[in-house]
Amino acid sequence: MLKLEHIGIAVNDLSTSVPLFEKLLNSQCYKREEVESEKVTTAFFRAGECKIELLESTDAGGVISKYIGKKGEGLHHIAFEVSDIKAEMKRLVAEGYVLLNEEPKKGADNKLVVFLHPKSAGGVLVELCQEIK
Ligand code: ZN
Repeated sequence: MLKLEHIGIAVNDLSTSVPLFEKLLNSQCYKREEVESEKVTTAFFRAGECKIELLESTDAGGVISKYIGKKGEGLHHIAFEVSDIKAEMKRLVAEGYVLLNEEPKKGADNKLVVFLHPKSAGGVLVELCQEIK
C-alpha cells in the first residue's frame, strides 16, 4: 500500500454536505463526478496528502442508499493507493481477505478500484485504488 488515498463518506445530499465540508476543510470541492456503475455522485476535496470523497446515491436501490438506510450518514470506506492492484489483490486473497469484486473496475477520479469485504477487514470497508495511466 502506498498511502491512504482518500476517505469515503456517505451523505444524503451533496447540496448540503459540500458546503459543510468546504467550511470544515477550508478548501473548495474541486471535482464532482457521477459513477454510473456504482449509482453515486462523488464530490472530492483535498485535505493535505489525503482526499475526502463524499458519496451521494443516484438510485434508491444503490449501495449508498442502502448503507445510509442501515447506518445513517457517515464514514463509508477508506481507500489505499497501490501501484499494482492485481498483485495486491492476489496477495490479499492469499492472506485470506475476501474481495467484493473479482476484477478491478473503473471508479471515480480516474482509478481502478477493488473493495475488500468488511467482514474480512475488521469491520472496515477497504478500497484499493490504482491510478489509470
Ligand atoms: Zn472511494
